Amino acid sequence: MSDLISVIVPCFNEQEALPFFYREICKVALELKEKHCVDFELLFVNDGSRDQTLSLLRELSTKDSRVKYISFSRNFGKESAIYAGLENASGNYISMIDADLQDPPSLLLEMYELIKNGTYDCIGTRRVTRKGEPPIRSFFARCFYRLINKISNVDIVDGARDFRLMSRQMTDAILSLREYNRFSKGIFGWVGFRTKWLEYENVERVAGSTKWSFWKLFLYSLDGITAFSTTPLSIASAFGMLFLFIAFILILIIIWKTLVFGEPVAGYPSTMCVLFFIGGLQLFSIGILGQYLSKAYLEVKKRPIYIVQETNIPSKEDY
Ligand code: UDP
Ligand code: MG
Repeated sequence: MSDLISVIVPCFNEQEALPFFYREICKVALELKEKHCVDFELLFVNDGSRDQTLSLLRELSTKDSRVKYISFSRNFGKESAIYAGLENASGNYISMIDADLQDPPSLLLEMYELIKNGTYDCIGTRRVTRKGEPPIRSFFARCFYRLINKISNVDIVDGARDFRLMSRQMTDAILSLREYNRFSKGIFGWVGFRTKWLEYENVERVAGSTKWSFWKLFLYSLDGITAFSTTPLSIASAFGMLFLFIAFILILIIIWKTLVFGEPVAGYPSTMCVLFFIGGLQLFSIGILGQYLSKAYLEVKKRPIYIVQETNIPSKEDY
């Protein structure tokens, strides 16, 4: 039996980029078919786009039977879109790729050749340069990767893209992590398996604009940290203990000074400084606690990761 590659494409307001993307991926599909007799399935996930993305997808699916689409009832985020794609992919190899051609589809050929003999379970991609990205964004991205690799015990590769080709086995492992707060880069590392990294230069998106604002990226990095590390909680506790210890020593000194020298009223500025410092530290620590608590709160609710409004994939009960 020939192999089937499911390509998952999360789309959020991608009407400009989609036609380019479709053309490119068809070229690759043809090449793979001719060279290796591989079949393709294109699984577009419309993540609550507010433009013509959905009607484009409907149109594509009537023309091309390889095109499947899932349309969400609202924007659930790229992570949810990827999860929906993984759940609905039927191939024995599964790939995920951005719709904006920043991930070159032509790499799929090389990826398939590498994965098919079974030496690797996953062929990932990472970009070696961050060319075309605002320097400040690159700087914070680098800091984030350095930090998260220090404080968590999963390996999160700097510059790793979500673009990858995985075996069915690894995909099933990823699907078994049903957490609501999904941080794919961490989940891929967490499940393990043998990954080979291909490197390529960063390219600008072909059309449309990026869906990530700086603020969204910042919140995403917090998600990543809280999902894969509890070190911030330990740091907060360590600070707590340190200050308790200092306070204890100070109390002893003050008692001794009062007994020996009496009690002259002085030291208002220093008192205020200490007050502000300790107050700030406490708020900071409570904030950290709050982050974890809110994540736990959302997990406990067991809400679905996404809600489908429309799809052309027959549901499993229909078979
Ligand atoms: N995307 C999505 N939901 C979102 C944001 C983005 O499905 O809420 C998709 C988007 O359509 C694209 C991919 O995720 O296919 C990567 O998004 P983008 O190019 O904006 O991110 P960047 O390449 O700048 O990291
Ligand atoms: Mg992009």
